[in-house]
Amino acid sequence: MDTTIIVVDDESGIKTTLCGILEDAGYEVIGLEKGTEALQMIRERPFNVVICDIRLPDVSGLEILELAKEINPEAAVIMMTGYASLETAVGAVNQGAYAYFVKPVNPDEMKTTIANALKQQRLSLENNRLVESLQRANKLLLEANEGLQSEITGRKQAEELYMTLAESSPVGVYLFQEGKFQFVNPQFQEYTGYSEDELLDMAPYELVYPEDRRQARENAVQMLKGSRRSPYEFRAINKDGEIMWALETVTSIRYNGKRATLGNFMHITERKRMEQEIEEKNMRLDVRNEELQSLTEELMIQRQELIERAGEVERANRLKSEFLANMSHELRTPLNAIIGFSELMLDGIPGKINSEQGQCLRDVLTSSRHLLDLINDVLDLSKIESGKMDLKLENVLLNEVVVSLARIMMPILASRQQRLDVGIEDELMLVYADESKLSQVLLNLVDNASKFSPDGSRLEINAVARGDWCQVSVIDNGTGIKKEDQEKIFEPFSRLDSPLVRERGGTGLGLAVVKQIVERDGGRIWVNSEYGKGSHFIFTLPLANKRHTDPEERNNQ
Ligand code: ADP
Repeated sequence: MDTTIIVVDDESGIKTTLCGILEDAGYEVIGLEKGTEALQMIRERPFNVVICDIRLPDVSGLEILELAKEINPEAAVIMMTGYASLETAVGAVNQGAYAYFVKPVNPDEMKTTIANALKQQRLSLENNRLVESLQRANKLLLEANEGLQSEITGRKQAEELYMTLAESSPVGVYLFQEGKFQFVNPQFQEYTGYSEDELLDMAPYELVYPEDRRQARENAVQMLKGSRRSPYEFRAINKDGEIMWALETVTSIRYNGKRATLGNFMHITERKRMEQEIEEKNMRLDVRNEELQSLTEELMIQRQELIERAGEVERANRLKSEFLANMSHELRTPLNAIIGFSELMLDGIPGKINSEQGQCLRDVLTSSRHLLDLINDVLDLSKIESGKMDLKLENVLLNEVVVSLARIMMPILASRQQRLDVGIEDELMLVYADESKLSQVLLNLVDNASKFSPDGSRLEINAVARGDWCQVSVIDNGTGIKKEDQEKIFEPFSRLDSPLVRERGGTGLGLAVVKQIVERDGGRIWVNSEYGKGSHFIFTLPLANKRHTDPEERNNQ
């Protein structure tokens, strides 16, 4: 490394001489005459030695000394003075100067001093480096020591923590080594019923129910080897000889430098009991579930049978209706002949008859006419039920149908001195219906109203529009119908027992036919009646051009 010496002296001759000597000695030398230049140089570049005249015209040599020591404390500053002044020299040395020379300077002495100063510098640098590396090593040692200390504290804390955990754990904890328990926590003592001292004298297998020992041991070994992860169950026996269910895990650890087994032991008798209960309940449920399945299957079979039977019944019913329709038709022909010939005989056209024969013939005629009514009703009903009744639906003026009906009914009403009033909201009300069937419906209802009302009473037909529907009511002040009979009367052959019914007769088929016809037209029929006061039979018909076949809408009427 180059050694740089700064020489400062305002006496040019001394400066040049000194620089020459030092350059010859192999140093790099910077010669300066002004103190300000020296201060600047010291700030700007590295140096090892400054040789400075104390008395410079512009700056004090002491100032240069001070700056040089501040910037490079290791540098040697040698002061020169023009005359011997102990005071100045001591002052300079006290402020850190390495040496001082009284001019004229002895070159050899100067060289020796510089060489010594440089040597001292090197030594001091080396010393510093040594101290530094010692300090570093020391620091590392200190850190390592701290680490060790905290590891020891950590271990102690972990140990304490583990012990606290083990002591307060709700799980039984034990440490087992060389055939004996080394540690047992309070919970383990409580589970087993033995004290700590008793347990430390025992081997773990003594706590296992004899039949479960082999399996428990096998499971523990597997777990210690790592080939089993899940806890295992076994039956344990406590100090009182009671059997309890236990759940256990074991871990292999090192303890006091040797292999040991750390065990966690849980009492699960209650859980086991609940599990068993659930299992039994499940079994019972399972049994019931089979049972239920077979019941369901049976029900399915029965349902299928019912469906088949219903199909058969429907077929049989249709056949019956067809049969009745055919039969009624075939019966009417001979019956018409009987009626026709009886009338002829009564009129005496084939020959004279006596009064007794006349009475017999009148009876034949009455019975035959009743039979014809019955056959006609059966025929109607059967035709409807077997789907053979063709409806001729068209726009019909309701008023006209009612007027012609009133005309037909006139003789009967007159014979009972009954009055029929008609009130149709709009006389031009058009309904969409089969005209002849509509007449039949009205005829049956008015005939019943008349039949079941006393002589001299008033009957009424009303019709009002309700939305898209026409609602027709046939009203009487007759016998009325009990609540419980009001549904029944629409079934075939249902005749209620009353003196008027007995007196005025009937087939019990009229209302059944009426209901079928109304419903075929898309309408609905019902009765409002108070027993003893009279009845309102009400049915609906679609208004013309507004056919209603949608069952939902029908229900909303
Ligand atoms: P029937 O030919 O006997 O009149 P219906 O089917 O027309 O048969 O009527 C069944 C029964 O309903 C009647 O026998 C009667 O008991 C009862 N019934 C029908 N209409 C009325 C009414 N307007 N007033 C009281 N009872 C009636």
